[in-house]
Amino acid sequence: MQLIDNYNFAGKKAIVRVDFNVPLKDGKVADDTRIKGALPTLKKVLADGGSLIIMSHMGKPKGQVVAKFSLGQIVDEVSKLLGSPVKFVNDCQKAQAEAAALKPGDVLLLENLRFYAEEEGKPVGIDKEDPAYEAAKKEMKEKQKEFSKVLASYADCYINDAFGTAHRKHASTAVIADYFDADNKMLGYLMEKEVAAVDKVLNNINRPFVAIMGGSKVSTKIGIIENLMTKVDRLILCGGMTYTFAKANGGTVGTSICEEDKLDLALEIQEMAKKNNVELYLAVDCVVTNAFDFDNMSLKPGAEVKIVPATEIPDGFEGLDAGVKSQKIFADAIKGAKTILWNGPAGVFECDDFTAGSKAIANAIAEATKEGAFSLIGGGDSVACINKFGLADQVSYISTGGGALLEAIEGKELPGIKAIKG
Ligand code: AMP
Repeated sequence: MQLIDNYNFAGKKAIVRVDFNVPLKDGKVADDTRIKGALPTLKKVLADGGSLIIMSHMGKPKGQVVAKFSLGQIVDEVSKLLGSPVKFVNDCQKAQAEAAALKPGDVLLLENLRFYAEEEGKPVGIDKEDPAYEAAKKEMKEKQKEFSKVLASYADCYINDAFGTAHRKHASTAVIADYFDADNKMLGYLMEKEVAAVDKVLNNINRPFVAIMGGSKVSTKIGIIENLMTKVDRLILCGGMTYTFAKANGGTVGTSICEEDKLDLALEIQEMAKKNNVELYLAVDCVVTNAFDFDNMSLKPGAEVKIVPATEIPDGFEGLDAGVKSQKIFADAIKGAKTILWNGPAGVFECDDFTAGSKAIANAIAEATKEGAFSLIGGGDSVACINKFGLADQVSYISTGGGALLEAIEGKELPGIKAIKG
């Protein structure tokens, strides 16, 4: 596989897929983390004497031109951060002349790829149940190849630096790679870092390995839990899934989030842990309330908040965080770890009354990292937690990929990476 460090971009035009799907406020970039994440790759091309054609998606315009998702809004910010003027082409399929005119050091940003349905390659305006759907899908796949070929025609080489979309087989993330030979396609620096981080928790594991899985439901995490079962030494399952386990073990859970159809699955997970000699940790107590407003993520006036055993939640109350005893158990389980993976909060951390469980986990991870552990934090909400607690610089790696990271940890091969690795 070609490596960006071994490639000399002098005199070459590089088309780079980045993830510039940044949040905007009043038409201005509200958070530039994603743009900054791609800078090392972009700067390497320019420093070598190459030119750049940058492409990205923004939002979900579903194959339509939608002004609020125009990448034209971020030109100034990209230009400022890159330290070079950026030219903008308002149709990603009509940049032939601008691309041909590029000189070393020039930078071109293409309009939102998803203004064309071909980018995602899904037929629009036809239901999956429609008998004509399969034919429409086939036709769209052909169109997607043509779309990708046009993008590829702008450049001498292709770089994928968008980990956030690496789990999608889209035109710019995977199909385009078919139009470059192995020597002229590569992962960008951000992608390389993400791949290395995933490798440390899946293959090159330093033990003990502790994984903390939280969030709202067991059903969305089961693929990962299964894959981790053969890899981790300790597994902490927290957040909303606590209550599916509590009910499966004969407890009462009040109005807590509980997947009634996953009770057997919860028991199977417990068995799996035993079989694989994995120490499984579930909350023994939890913080409950009888009046929580999920729309505003706050307690309703007059709400009662108390700590009860996780399997004895009174009627009318719901568990929204791990209790004090559980927090200590979780922190102790994280202590001494040499590899840590955290995905999903231990409670409704968006509300200050229910952050303590997630905070205890975050602090324990920071502490273990200080003692030499490699810690990977991934999935939007755990990243939000780490940022909320001001601990971002005290963990080893914060992944930029939500869905992509989860699929990678499930053990799936990501199309964006496969397209380059072959
Ligand atoms: P996920 O996207 O599955 O990782 O879930 C993240 C969400 O789970 C966050 O918005 C949390 O507020 C929510 N969550 C965590 N614990 C609970 C709980 N006990 N009950 C309901 N939601 C929860």
